Amino acid sequence: MNGLGLGAFDSSGATEWRETPLSVDKDDTIQVDIAVANVADGLYDSPGCCGSGSRKKLSITSLALNDIDNRKLKYLSTAPHSYFGGNTRVHGTITVEGDKDDELQSLVLEIIQGGNVVATANLATDAKTQLLEPFGEDEKVEITTSQLLFELPSAQAANINGATNGTLSLRVKAKSSSGEEATKDFGAVEILVRYTNSNRYGLRDGNQGGDDWIKPSVKTIIEHFSNITVGDMSNMNGGKFSPHSTHQDGRHVDGWFNGYNARDAATAATIISHLNDATYGSKILTVYVTYQQTNTNAFWNAIKNVTLNDGRMAKDVIKPINGHTTHFHWIIAP
Ligand SMILES: [Zn+2]
Repeated sequence: MNGLGLGAFDSSGATEWRETPLSVDKDDTIQVDIAVANVADGLYDSPGCCGSGSRKKLSITSLALNDIDNRKLKYLSTAPHSYFGGNTRVHGTITVEGDKDDELQSLVLEIIQGGNVVATANLATDAKTQLLEPFGEDEKVEITTSQLLFELPSAQAANINGATNGTLSLRVKAKSSSGEEATKDFGAVEILVRYTNSNRYGLRDGNQGGDDWIKPSVKTIIEHFSNITVGDMSNMNGGKFSPHSTHQDGRHVDGWFNGYNARDAATAATIISHLNDATYGSKILTVYVTYQQTNTNAFWNAIKNVTLNDGRMAKDVIKPINGHTTHFHWIIAP
């Protein structure tokens, strides 16, 4: 007590409460031993008081990560790009609980590849305003309706290895002003990379995070077929890509070549040449083309009896469908 100095005692001779955190489990029994020591201990009694209070521990109690269309995140766009200011967007909902006197200081999304954190996505501006505040009387901060949560800058995305197909683990990390940390795992998402060659047609669908996201293995295949031009692939993080009903998984690619729109015997010959490509022809599982399977249709007559080099029948691969009079559509092997 002497070491505290006179100023540490109020007019009744009492000090401030001294607080010490103790990590306990529910139903634990705790023994507290208190001792007071001062100079000339024999002269006056020195009482000590013990009180206890519970302090809520920082924890992320709910987490959902979603695609930009607010459906569950299955893929992540992991290459540098210029959409949304160069940020890959992750939407979601989150609840972080903490002590009423504590405050959420930071929240980030960690991207883990091969056991290491290789990139970090930042809390988006609006989410910062909603979440980085004192936990208050209800001892939580939360976003309960899916919205933009995290932004992965291109410079961080560049650290992710997108050379081959694979998955990434996502984990959210919270820190509070009192220095506590908490994490919550989301799970795995598949890598999508960006097709960057210039043989493109149409617009890039920037409001949907671009149209050039594909699986790494598909990128290699599309780059190989340099005599086509390429339209829509998948949008940011895959998933729903209006107006398409497909194009969700980085394996669907729209394409065009000079002479396609005629959809005649010459068109058929070019498509068959793609399917007979010695390196990657067999990776093209389906070609959608608008044509009629009638005896007067030149395109049909040019494919109906053709056996491909890999043994498949051309008519089993090149399937008739509406809406593909000015472009074909490939489904590539996983
Ligand atoms: Zn398509």
